[in-house]
Amino acid sequence: MEWKVHRARGGPVPRIAPTHMKRRQLLQQLALALAAGAAGAALNVFPPTMRLLPGRVLTLPLAILYGPAFGGIAALLGALPFARVSPVFLIILGAEGLAVGAFARRGRSSLTVGAIVWTLVAGAMAYEPDWFGVGSMGSMIGPLALQRLLNGMVAVVMAELVAVVATASQRRAPEDDAPRLRAYAFHVFILVAILPVLLLSAVNGELFASRQQTDGAARLHEAVTAMGDHIDGYINTHVRAVQALAMAAAHVGADPARRQQLIGRNRTIYDGFVTTFIADRDGIVQQIVPPQPAGRPINPVRDRQYFIEAVRTGNPAISDVIIGRLSHQPIVTIAVPILDANGEPDGVVGGSLNLSKFRKFLEEYRTLPGATITIADQHNRVIYASASSGFAALQNLAQEPIVLASAAADDGLFRYTRQGTDGARTAQLASVGAIGVGWKVFVEQPLVNMRVQTTSYYALTLMLMLLALAGAVLGARGFSGAVTRPLEELVSIVRRVSANGTPALAALDLDPPAEIADLLEDFNTMQTRLANSYHQLEQSLSQRERLNHDLTALTQDLDRKVRERTTELADATHIAEDANRAKSEFLANMSHEIRTPMNGIIGMTELALDTQLTGEQREYLSMVKASADALLAILNDILDFSKIEMHKLELEQLPFSVRDHVAELLKPLALRAEQKGIELICHVLPDVPSVAVGDPGRLRQVLVNLVGNAIKFTERGQILVQVETEALQSGEMRLHYFVSDSGIGIPADKQEQIFQPFKQADGSTTRRFGGTGLGLAISSTLVQLMGGRIWLESSPHEGSTFHFTTTLGVSDARPETIEVDLTSLPALIVDDNPVNRRVLH
Ligand code: ADP
Repeated sequence: MEWKVHRARGGPVPRIAPTHMKRRQLLQQLALALAAGAAGAALNVFPPTMRLLPGRVLTLPLAILYGPAFGGIAALLGALPFARVSPVFLIILGAEGLAVGAFARRGRSSLTVGAIVWTLVAGAMAYEPDWFGVGSMGSMIGPLALQRLLNGMVAVVMAELVAVVATASQRRAPEDDAPRLRAYAFHVFILVAILPVLLLSAVNGELFASRQQTDGAARLHEAVTAMGDHIDGYINTHVRAVQALAMAAAHVGADPARRQQLIGRNRTIYDGFVTTFIADRDGIVQQIVPPQPAGRPINPVRDRQYFIEAVRTGNPAISDVIIGRLSHQPIVTIAVPILDANGEPDGVVGGSLNLSKFRKFLEEYRTLPGATITIADQHNRVIYASASSGFAALQNLAQEPIVLASAAADDGLFRYTRQGTDGARTAQLASVGAIGVGWKVFVEQPLVNMRVQTTSYYALTLMLMLLALAGAVLGARGFSGAVTRPLEELVSIVRRVSANGTPALAALDLDPPAEIADLLEDFNTMQTRLANSYHQLEQSLSQRERLNHDLTALTQDLDRKVRERTTELADATHIAEDANRAKSEFLANMSHEIRTPMNGIIGMTELALDTQLTGEQREYLSMVKASADALLAILNDILDFSKIEMHKLELEQLPFSVRDHVAELLKPLALRAEQKGIELICHVLPDVPSVAVGDPGRLRQVLVNLVGNAIKFTERGQILVQVETEALQSGEMRLHYFVSDSGIGIPADKQEQIFQPFKQADGSTTRRFGGTGLGLAISSTLVQLMGGRIWLESSPHEGSTFHFTTTLGVSDARPETIEVDLTSLPALIVDDNPVNRRVLH
């Protein structure tokens, strides 16, 4: 029912199946339809159940499941066995298959369709019984039609059940969210309620029918026997009457008046005789009652079979049946010979017996519903037949089915199919009985008459069915109210909750069964727990949000503070830089200012040393001179460093001889090395260009510092100064200088920091060797300014090698050294410092 609506609605699945899949499915369904049709046909011809047309239990589910086309094919195939009996059924069953399929497609129950189809069939049967071959049933048509309706429905209901089972076992489409349980329960309730009533009615009908048939057969047999006896009795009575007449005629002799009187009296006793006559030995009729009208000749009877036989045998003879010329009734003539004293036939008494008198006692058997009585003579000619037989008087029945079939009957009971005058065929149950004279009595009834129950029986069954249906509807309502509706409500509650997250507790409108109430309670508990955790989650979320907010505020605050501090720091840096610059400026001024008196001190000391001095004085003054020299060196360093810090150092661009430059600067240093017992070697590689353009003074400063350090930190061994070309391009060259010693070396961890100002490798060395820690800082800055870099390789106790590179210009011109001898030339000395003036003087 309803679930089929949804099944049908959900029908064309959106997914597009490949055509070969579709074709395969169609072929599969066709094969199933053909198989169901064949099986249905086999079931339909199974005789004891034919009235139920049971093959439809197999063919109709196909219509329900696969639609009208396959349903029609299966139904037609299943109905083929009826084509011979009554083509109407071919049409009905085919139409039923189509209708059930079409209705199922629209989601309609096949019960409705079945009820419509079989009500129509029953109506048609009552209205036009001939279509169904039951035209002769008369009053039986009503019950027969009702029986057809009920029998037709049995297979429909069973087919529906088969389809329900088949559908229930199918997988449900995911998009199909119809309330299946309710529809399913409803359907099953109805089927379960109706099926027993229908089956009971069908089974009861069958049992009743077979009992009726047995009873009917017995009744037929009885009727035949009774009729035979009656007819026998009738004929025998009249035979004896004729015998009595013959004896009386013999007794009275050939007296015509007495004979006439005899037959006249006889006729008043036996009114069954149409005529009674006495013929003489030659077959000439002498006396006859009723008397024949005048002028009408009475034919002699000498050539009649009954006369000849009676005379020949001396016994009563009975003629064949004839139709009386005047009475138009079937007549037999009973002939009895009149025997003389010698026992020789002296004439014949004849009585023409009117057989239509049978009708009177045959009428007693009219109570047999639809019974047909036929009486045939020894030549199978009809003596008497009920109007329903369709046989005419004296019709020869020798080739009629009834006679042919009776020949094979053993105890006088047989079945045969009668072909009505209208062509309708009916299955008949018949009984045949023999009558002494060689006649036969046939009594027959349509089989269906015996099988059909009364109208009230079917009406009662129908009523029971309706009652069951009402009960089923009520039951289904009750079930749906008690179980499915609360379940559906529960489902919608769950859906609502899952869709909206409604935190309110759910309650059913209906009073549900305990199981569903428990389920709902569990659901509510679960929902409460869910709501609680949801609440907690929400709380922690809002907490997190608050924290986030705080954090943002904090970050902003921090950011602001950082910016403030940065500004402050920038200011401070600015101030510090200013202070530093002031300091450097102060240092530079200071050094510069101190250098002038220092020159005075050194110059004056030198002058004093040139004078006559005691050994002690000379030693003291020499120490003054050395200290003043050292101090001047420090001052020069500090001045340079200050200049560098204030970015006031500028390089000159002068051509100079690389080799001369090195040689000259090493001269004084070689002296110092020699004093320490160290060998100083200088090696300028041949590929080094002789002339370069740069600042020879600054280059000298770097080299002097490096070589000076080497001498300072080396106790024995040698010092190598080497110059090589690293790169030479047009207009530019890159020279590589290195100073290698065999001194104390520098630990790896100190190698970087010694290039920092005021940093020394080892605090103790300062005390031992002296120095400011500015030399390498100045050198590295100068090397950078000269477009090179400085680095070192060293290991403690093995020695150090300081490398540096410098970019210099290339020049072809030889540097000119102008040497002018100024000795003994008069000079004017101008200086604001009187010490300077004195020194130069
Ligand atoms: P200082 O005036 O102290 O010589 P420098 O900047 O010239 O200042 O040198 C810094 C330090 O580097 C020195 O005090 C010494 O510890 C180390 N140093 C420099 N040259 C050498 C070297 N050739 N061998 C060993 N140590 C050296």
